[in-house]
Amino acid sequence: MNIPSSARLVLATHNPHKVRELADILSPLIPGFSSDMVVGAAGLGIAEPVEDGVSFTENALIKARAASAATGLPAVTDDSGICVDIMGGAPGIFSARWCGHHGDDQANLQLLLDQMADVPDAQRTASFVSAAVLCCPGGLERHCLGKMSGRLIRTPQGEGGFGYDPIFVADGQDCTNSELSAGQKNALSHRGKAFRALAPAIAAALELGGNLTPAQARP
Ligand code: IMP
Repeated sequence: MNIPSSARLVLATHNPHKVRELADILSPLIPGFSSDMVVGAAGLGIAEPVEDGVSFTENALIKARAASAATGLPAVTDDSGICVDIMGGAPGIFSARWCGHHGDDQANLQLLLDQMADVPDAQRTASFVSAAVLCCPGGLERHCLGKMSGRLIRTPQGEGGFGYDPIFVADGQDCTNSELSAGQKNALSHRGKAFRALAPAIAAALELGGNLTPAQARP
């Protein structure tokens, strides 16, 4: 595996949208952070592990442990999804494969819209949830949860973001996540909240080359 010499952190995701969002979220939070300190798991050819956990946190830990073990670097990632209240929290951890196969954002969104077609506006509440995790080579692990509440609209709107963004309007907003700028979305988002909570532990891991003790990593 060809790890660039400047790399000090691996982003354990194969989703290019998330690599960009994570780098944008982390750079203002971590002193001295620059994009050449970060490598994506996909760029290093690390295989995507099977996400067979039963919670966002378990699945995030599976991805980060695999990337840290493969590289010897501290690894961060999140596992995330959309939880629709009237569907008992589904799609939840199955958000990326709701249509039956992995990673088809358009088919996932369309299936959810079809399932919700008869649900009145007042019952269309939902939340995005993100479990952000850090796994260090010495075995230290930290995790934080973030949530963004809102509602589902009936017709996709906007071009930005990814996944279910075109049908989600966050509380206090009058447009979908897809119509927000990247900076606006990161300020409100589940992922932004989770990584802001985890940032002190990531900063400590970078300073110490990943050799953190539990006390040093406390968020
Ligand atoms: P993960 O990459 O395994 O965490 O899967 C997350 C899935 O949840 C994505 O494929 C999207 O369908 C959905 N998702 C998570 N975060 C967002 C977001 O910020 N906007 C839109 N969809 C999201």
